[in-house]
Amino acid sequence: MFATIARAIFGTANDRSLKGYQRRVPGINALEPAMQALSNTELAAKTVEFRQRLADGATLDELLPEAFAVVREAGVRTLGQRHFDVQLVGGMVLHDGKIAEMKTGEGKTLVATLPVYLNALAGKGVHVVTVNDYLARRDADWMGQIYQFLGMSVGVIVHGLDDDARRAQYAADITYGTNNEFGFDYLRDNMKYRLDDMVQRDFCFGIVDEVDSILIDEARTPLIISGPAEDSSSLYRQVDEVVKILVQDPTTYDKDEKFRTAALTESGSEKVEDMLREAGVLTEGNLYDIFNVAAIHHVQQSLRAHTLFARDVDYIVRQDQVIIIDEFTGRMMEGRRYSEGLHQALEAKEHVTVQPENQTLASITFQNYFRLYPKLAGMTGTAMTEADEFAEIYKLDVVEIPTNVNVTRKDEDDEVYRTAAEKYEAGAALIAEARSNGLPVLVGTTSIEKSETISELLKQKKVPHAVLNARFHEQEAEIVAQAGAPGAVTIATNMAGRGTDIKLGGNLEMRLRKEASLIADEAERSAKEAQIKAEIAAAHEAVKQAGGLLVVGTERHESRRVDNQLRGRSGRQGDPGRSRFFLSLEDDLMRIFGSDRMGGMLQRLGLKDGEAIVHPWINKALEKAQKKVEARNFDTRKNVLRYDDVMNAQRKEVYAQRKEFMRADDVADTIAEMRADVLSQMVARRVPEKAFSEQWELTALSEDVARVLGVVLPIEEWGRAEGMDETGLREKIEQAADELMASRTASMGPDMMRFIEKSLLLQTLDAVWKEHLHALDHLRQGIGLRAYGQRDPLNEYKSEAFALFTSLLDELKERVTTVLARVEIAPQEPVYQPFMESHPSLDMFGGESDLMLEGSAEPSIWTGQPSRADAVDSNNPATWKNVGRNAACPCGSGKKYKHCHGRLA
Ligand code: ADP
Ligand code: MG
Repeated sequence: MFATIARAIFGTANDRSLKGYQRRVPGINALEPAMQALSNTELAAKTVEFRQRLADGATLDELLPEAFAVVREAGVRTLGQRHFDVQLVGGMVLHDGKIAEMKTGEGKTLVATLPVYLNALAGKGVHVVTVNDYLARRDADWMGQIYQFLGMSVGVIVHGLDDDARRAQYAADITYGTNNEFGFDYLRDNMKYRLDDMVQRDFCFGIVDEVDSILIDEARTPLIISGPAEDSSSLYRQVDEVVKILVQDPTTYDKDEKFRTAALTESGSEKVEDMLREAGVLTEGNLYDIFNVAAIHHVQQSLRAHTLFARDVDYIVRQDQVIIIDEFTGRMMEGRRYSEGLHQALEAKEHVTVQPENQTLASITFQNYFRLYPKLAGMTGTAMTEADEFAEIYKLDVVEIPTNVNVTRKDEDDEVYRTAAEKYEAGAALIAEARSNGLPVLVGTTSIEKSETISELLKQKKVPHAVLNARFHEQEAEIVAQAGAPGAVTIATNMAGRGTDIKLGGNLEMRLRKEASLIADEAERSAKEAQIKAEIAAAHEAVKQAGGLLVVGTERHESRRVDNQLRGRSGRQGDPGRSRFFLSLEDDLMRIFGSDRMGGMLQRLGLKDGEAIVHPWINKALEKAQKKVEARNFDTRKNVLRYDDVMNAQRKEVYAQRKEFMRADDVADTIAEMRADVLSQMVARRVPEKAFSEQWELTALSEDVARVLGVVLPIEEWGRAEGMDETGLREKIEQAADELMASRTASMGPDMMRFIEKSLLLQTLDAVWKEHLHALDHLRQGIGLRAYGQRDPLNEYKSEAFALFTSLLDELKERVTTVLARVEIAPQEPVYQPFMESHPSLDMFGGESDLMLEGSAEPSIWTGQPSRADAVDSNNPATWKNVGRNAACPCGSGKKYKHCHGRLA
């Protein structure tokens, strides 16, 4: 009540922000005569002038009125369309990085040209995101006339382009493309090995068309690039055969049960190399050549599987599976797997089926992709119902912009029947009647199956109709374009995000393009054009007289937004029209979400067999049910995002780091630091601070060092020297390592060494990152199942993901150091393998939405070193924040954290 009065006096927030924009319109209009007075060349020269003024310190906001006036005039001269005042408002909203809600047919494609042109002046590239390739091409061609007239270049990214073509399109001032293409290009770019191979520039400004469709409907599942279904199972088996024989000779390896590590000895390495070569696993080069990184990794895991893991102690074998046994509780941990290929090595050892590795190479959600843009805007006919979500997730405000002409469409109350059959019958009858009166009819359903049901019914009634099938975008666009012709009946599953608008009488541009644009002869062409125009004008008038487009809904969708999309197809630009929904008690929404009250209410209203009931209460009750479903779906999406956020922070770090490595002339310093880190961690482990020298584990340290450096240093001798302390020993080892590497570099040639270092670093970073993604997957899948008592799974996930990330860094350093110490012959260029890209519609995060999750600050990453945590209570794991994966477990077991409390499977 109070709110209503307040709104009446002060207006809504939307009214106020609209007013602000509207105040700027007269200023733009006032510039029109001056623009009209310019020649084409002078008008185009404005672009150069604006760019100069920007360079001289002007801001985009200052240029806005003139730039908009220039685009409007260019629109008139190229397309014969003058931006309406409300379209200028829409343009300003987009320029401000907000969502412009403008109804279907308001001309959002044209609206976008205003902020696109203005922002492209900065020369950093503007992306316009569409829902499919067809629309990307259409809009780039169509609006491209304006941009090109003004001296700007336009690119379009569609499926099937190669990298060179993509790079060229991204280099344009303005680039149109789909969300999938943009997202995949981002992921692919970050898997490349040279900066020059990347196709995208840094992000600047993005406008997402049909923004609700892309950021809400498609946002429940991430984009995923996965590797080919490489058959590594045979590799695991081959390696297993070799290692099984190898370990019968105990001189071939050293193992440390305390730290659960095992490594080949010098003689073991030689032996395994020969055996692998014989087995055909090594086809060229030596075991430690960089292109054999995978093989050596498999050997190491297999070695661990054979020497450190015992059947019925650490795991059991059951039903063709290796199941981990929790060493503290003795409980079987079904579904959990050891990471980094260890589980597969155990499967090979036990001759059960080697499960395929999860081969996610890269993935990102649309939420996180679009949050990469420093400035983002969106447009759609239906955003208000999801305004909270846009604000919360993307920090995007929604501004509802009034239509150019008032909407006169009549939205009738729903008709509710007892059964679905009655409902369809009634709907079909209305369709048939409308068609015979010359009305075009658009029929909306919620599934392809239901479209077919209606289609069958209409066939029986001999009503010709078209059924939209989402697979063929271009064909579909043509059907939609003609859906406004007299008597046309069109059935569609979901009108959200379909980008083509239905004009009464038919779509002129589409018909001109299809029927006239290809006629070579000028006179013939204009005759044809005139004929089409006349036909459409007559049809337009006839349909208008008959009452405009009739929208028939056969079910309420889960979300109000999708219903609004359907309705909004009718009544564009002040056209007449009406809409009506036919429902039944058997509809999903009614069954699942309509409360018992609904049944009672219908009873009271007197619902009888074969009869419909129509009452505004029902619409209200249904809307409530829809709001419930919307909220639930929002929760699911938020949950996906919360989990992805954890990986997102890490992904950003890794990608940034990768880029830095690629950009660097050489990475020798990084490599040297990594080597020093690895060695100093080893020293810290065996020669703890403040320990008496009698407690130093010098033999073990010597073996550790030999394992990474490949040479035996006189560490025991050094350690026994008079006055030697921890620091001195560490320095001696580091110095020896540096000398060793220096001599390798000298014999290899510094250029070659620098090249090897860089490619090895990138390759290894990718390998450990890939394994990390794999581990995160398992972690996320497992975490919901764990009995955490009062603990919050998201927080558990966060801290474990952080620990895993720390171990990724340790792993990276150690692998790089180990391989470089042994690298022998010239490497080959890394082999690129074809990727598979997917955006699964399946909800892979299902089931977790019921959990109550609480966000907490992201721990900082790349800080590399495991912290010597303060205030750690060995009995209370909650105090062990961020233990390094390779550090000793704080519980005092003497094992590495990753093999003890930090064990993740
Ligand atoms: P939306 O995406 O908002 O549904 P479209 O961009 O597809 O709408 O445009 C709908 C139709 O309106 C198109 O045929 C377009 O040419 C036309 N149109 C848009 N703006 C104008 C204008 N200012 N003057 C004339 N026609 C326009
Ligand atoms: Mg559109």
